[in-house]
Amino acid sequence: MRILVVGSGPVGLMFCAKLSREGHECVLIERHDFNQTFSRASTLQPATLELLSEFACWPELLAQGEVVSDVMSWNLERSTQQRSSYDALSAQTQFPYRLHLHQAALRAELIAELQASRCCCLVDKADAVALQFDRCNKGVSVRVNRFGSSGLSQTFQGDYLILCDGARSVLRDQLGLRFEGYDLPTPVVRLSVPMIPDSLQGQLAGVSYVQSEGGSVSCLKMTDGWRFVLRPRLSELRQALAGTAWARQRLAGVFRDCVPAQWWESIPAMRDSYRVAQRCVKTRQVQRVFLLGDVAHVTNTRGGLNMNFGLMEAYALASCFLNHPDWQALQHWNLTWSRLTQDALMARTQQLLAGRTPRFLRPSSESFGALMRASLLDLLSYSKSLRR
Ligand SMILES: Cc1cc2nc3c(=O)[nH]c(=O)nc-3n(C[C@H](O)[C@H](O)[C@H](O)COP(=O)(O)OP(=O)(O)OC[C@H]3O[C@@H](n4cnc5c(N)ncnc54)[C@H](O)[C@@H]3O)c2cc1C
Repeated sequence: MRILVVGSGPVGLMFCAKLSREGHECVLIERHDFNQTFSRASTLQPATLELLSEFACWPELLAQGEVVSDVMSWNLERSTQQRSSYDALSAQTQFPYRLHLHQAALRAELIAELQASRCCCLVDKADAVALQFDRCNKGVSVRVNRFGSSGLSQTFQGDYLILCDGARSVLRDQLGLRFEGYDLPTPVVRLSVPMIPDSLQGQLAGVSYVQSEGGSVSCLKMTDGWRFVLRPRLSELRQALAGTAWARQRLAGVFRDCVPAQWWESIPAMRDSYRVAQRCVKTRQVQRVFLLGDVAHVTNTRGGLNMNFGLMEAYALASCFLNHPDWQALQHWNLTWSRLTQDALMARTQQLLAGRTPRFLRPSSESFGALMRASLLDLLSYSKSLRR
C-alpha cells in the first residue's frame, strides 16, 4: 500500500513518523525546503506528549522544551489570581505538564527521525498543484511542480493521499470541499522577548492569562524568553501591525505596577502576527483522500488546541492504516474525527475566542474535568484505539 502525504507541517510529519516507526513506507511532498525553519505554535499538551513519547526523538524534544506545570489567571483590575497545577493530572498521565517548544524544533526533530528511518521518501521544493482519482477508484495521483529544476513537473501515484497542506490548501478546493466558518476581524499579535524583570517573573506562572482594563494578554514562558500574545481592537490595528511600539506600550500599561515603563522600550523584541479564524470542513474523506490538521480545521490558537488536535487525529489515522484497514475502518475514522472536530475542538475553542478565562481556572468543582479537556486527555483513547 503506497501512501502519499502532502505537507510537512507538524501534522503531516506526525502521520509519516507514526507510519515509519512501524516500518511502513510513505512519500512526503513539501513545497518548501525541509531545512527552512520558522516558529509558529509553541504548546504541546499532555495528550500529545503521550503520543510523541514513543518516538526516538522524544528525549531531544523534552530537552529543548520548557516544562510548564502551573497555569494562572490574573485579573489586575480586581487584584484576583486563580492558579491551577497540572499535577492534578498525575494519576491520568505520565506527563502532567505542558511542553512549550518552538514548532520549528518539533518539525526539525521529526524530519531528522524520518530521514534516519529510511521508510519515508522525502520530496521537498515540490509544489502539489493537482490531484486526480484513477477511473476505477483504485488509486490517486498528485502532480507537482519541482522548484529549482527549471519548472519540471512530476506525477506521484499512490493508493491513498493524505492532505496536510495547511489552511490555504489548493487541493482541498479541487475536492470541492467548503471550508466553512468565519474569520475574526483582527489578527493576534505576538511579542517575544529574551527575558523579563524578576519583579514580573516572580508573579507569573509558566502560562498566565492576564486581564486588565486595556485588554487581555497571554504570557508564555519559553526556554529562550517569554512570548506575549495580544489581541488588538479594530481601531488599534494599524499601530499594532507597524513595528513593536504598540505591543510594548500595551505591555507597559498592563504591567505598570510591577515593571517600569521604560524597561519595555529598551528590551530587544520580535513581533509577529497571524489571522485567526473558526473554520472546518464537514467531512475528512473524499474517496481515497483524507484531510488532517489545518487543512480540515482552524480555530483560536489558545493552548495550541488546534495543532494538538491535528497531531492526535494524524496519529489515529496512521494507526488505522497500520492495521490494514478496510473501508469501514477508514470511514469510522472519518466519522469519529469529523464529529470530534465539531463537538470537542470547535466547541472548546469557541469559549476561548472572547479571551475568557479557561474553565479549569474558574473556581468550581468541575475544574478537574475542565483541565482534562483542556489537556485533550479525554480524547486520547480516540487516538489510540484503532477500530470500533
Ligand atoms: C503565523 C502563524 C502563527 C501561529 N501561531 C500559533 C500559535 O502561537 N499557537 C498555535 O497553537 N498555533 C499557531 N498557529 C497555527 C499552527 O501553526 C497550526 O495549527 C499548525 O502549524 C498546523 O499544522 P499543519 O501541519 O496542519 O499545517 P501547516 O503547519 O500549515 O503545514 C502545512 C505544510 O504544507 C505545505 N504545503 C502547503 N501547500 C502545499 C502544496 N501545494 N504542496 C506541497 N506542500 C504544501 C506548507 O509549506 C507547510 O509546510 C500559527 C499559524 C501561523 C500561520
